[in-house]
Amino acid sequence: MKVDFYKHNLQMEDVNAVVSALKEPILTTGKIVHTFENKLAKYTRNRFAIGTMSCSHSLELALRVLNIGPGDEVITTPMTFIATTNSIIKLGAKPIFVDIENDTGNINVDLIEEAITKKTKAILVVHLYGVMCDMQAVKKIADRYKLKVVEDSAHCIEGSRDGTKPGNIGDFACFSFYATKNITCGEGGAISFNNEEYVDKIRVLYLHGMDKSAEKRFTEGYQHWNMEFLGIKANMSNIQAALLVNQIDRIDQQLKVREEICRKYEIAFENAPGVNILKVPPSVITSRHLFIIKVNPMFRNQIIKEIQDHNVGVTINYRAVHTMSYYKEKFEYKPEMFKIANQFGESVISLPLYVSLKPDEQDYVIEVVKKIAKKYE
Ligand SMILES: *Cc1c(COP(=O)(O)O)cnc(C)c1O
Repeated sequence: MKVDFYKHNLQMEDVNAVVSALKEPILTTGKIVHTFENKLAKYTRNRFAIGTMSCSHSLELALRVLNIGPGDEVITTPMTFIATTNSIIKLGAKPIFVDIENDTGNINVDLIEEAITKKTKAILVVHLYGVMCDMQAVKKIADRYKLKVVEDSAHCIEGSRDGTKPGNIGDFACFSFYATKNITCGEGGAISFNNEEYVDKIRVLYLHGMDKSAEKRFTEGYQHWNMEFLGIKANMSNIQAALLVNQIDRIDQQLKVREEICRKYEIAFENAPGVNILKVPPSVITSRHLFIIKVNPMFRNQIIKEIQDHNVGVTINYRAVHTMSYYKEKFEYKPEMFKIANQFGESVISLPLYVSLKPDEQDYVIEVVKKIAKKYE
């Protein structure tokens, strides 16, 4: 048997939606993007959502709108994809890492306060694997020190904590529709928020700083446009949105399937020698983006090799960002400075998790992983 690490779940209705989009005269941002934006905002219970080219672009837009730049510090987590922390560096600011909770891999909120300095402008949290951080606790600290809060929600569209969803508490939530995310258009993203002031700012900022979009010029006839500041190019096209408009309607149904798969993994690995699993805190509904096991870090690479030799696709999400050469050299971070994140990143393995994963395929993954992990307990 061969089990892939990931398969998307596109349906004929998604293919047909793209075909219709291609028959429209204009392929860039238009009606289909706005339909998707409205659906996403409604689903996450935020007032606004804007489609972008990626979560990386969304993060950059969020930090730019918050005027983060050289000399500023942004508190964040080392247990994430590099896109999170690179967005801070891209604007000339410094990422200040705070260690993580061992049970979830999320930033340890209790350690945020001691990392705050006069230069701190914002807290950039990541809802890792789909489990939201304790946003009420983050917000309390942010308010006390007048800091902004950005949520990297690349893993978490569907999740909630204490009844709140991504973007409800923070200033911005940034989403990804990259090839392996819960809903996907290959490459794409969105930024969601509740402050009306940000709408025009982002729509200008993500079109080079132009104050009239091509869409307006097309629908309303040529008008002179002006550029008052330097923006970036990050708008979503109708083609990408066409792939997403129906997926978002199926999002809860798909979550249910992944939830069942995860429950089965959890039962199978609960007492399995050599395997540890993460905890979902009470009051959290997880988006079940990735299923993670932890194994003995001394043998992790060998275990991965043997799992792959059995034709099971696995990956690592993630080795801690502060251990990457660029970060070590630029900021003089050492692996042991964020001990839990370092250890966590040396222990994790991500298992196959997607809607079309069949029961016998999952049984095979469980059998292979149990057998191999036991040898390296
Ligand atoms: C995928 C991912 C991103 C980047 O998303 P893109 O849409 O590829 O830019 C950012 N943060 C996290 C945690 C991710 O997993």
